[in-house]
Amino acid sequence: MNLIGIDIGRSKSRVALGNEKGKIKKAVLYPTDPENIYDDLVSKIIELAPKNIDAIAVGITSISSDEGRVDFDISRKANARLEKKLKKRFEVPVVLENDADTASLGEAVLGAGRGEDTVVYVGIGSGVGVGIVKGERIFENTDTKELGHIVIEKGGLECRCGGKGHLEAYISGTAIKKRFGKEQNDYIPKKIWEDIVKYLAKGLLNIIEKYSPNMVVIGGGVANQSEMFLPITIDILSKSLPKGESVQIKKSKFGDRSGLVGALILAKRVAEEKI
Ligand SMILES: [Zn+2]
Repeated sequence: MNLIGIDIGRSKSRVALGNEKGKIKKAVLYPTDPENIYDDLVSKIIELAPKNIDAIAVGITSISSDEGRVDFDISRKANARLEKKLKKRFEVPVVLENDADTASLGEAVLGAGRGEDTVVYVGIGSGVGVGIVKGERIFENTDTKELGHIVIEKGGLECRCGGKGHLEAYISGTAIKKRFGKEQNDYIPKKIWEDIVKYLAKGLLNIIEKYSPNMVVIGGGVANQSEMFLPITIDILSKSLPKGESVQIKKSKFGDRSGLVGALILAKRVAEEKI
């Protein structure tokens, strides 16, 4: 099969040509232009696979035209339009999902969470995206969409979405820059990690309590420094979870390509009409 997997992030986008095993054959990376998402996608898809595409799957972050603020309803409508246009242009099945969901699917089915029933993926990049997979299927309800925006500090720091005290406002790459003046790729001293982990653990405890995962996978750009913060996170969680409860926490297997792998899995399913 010739499948197209797409991952549209807030700053970078990726388009891949891959097969039904989730294997990426070719991929391109380019800066996301919120005003030209459709045109950019069409040219990249044609560049990778001039013909014989079987299906397309897109993982997309919440992007609203109103820069800086996220409106989940506006992006839902814009996403539906994008899906329709791609279907019409390429005349193949197209499926569009939240980018944290595609990344979680990639990690749960073929990555760090392989073989586990319930996997929670926490992508920490410029924002925080959380996806849940149960039995190799994306698990969604009204709460799961916005888990990066759960309140962990009542009346706390202002979040990009306009809310206060949200997880994203404390641990995202953007938050780390704002709070400590550090970029995601900078060396970040242990003292700062301890502060970040305090909030990450609060968020994780909340999510673990709600969804009882067998495995938590941490991905996104910040996860590149996982050796600096995963051990302390695991330590705090093991002390905070109720007696007898435990959860495995791992770094993502595919790094910044988890979303592409997940999109290829979805593309295969939609090509076989299993969605
Ligand atoms: Zn928020």
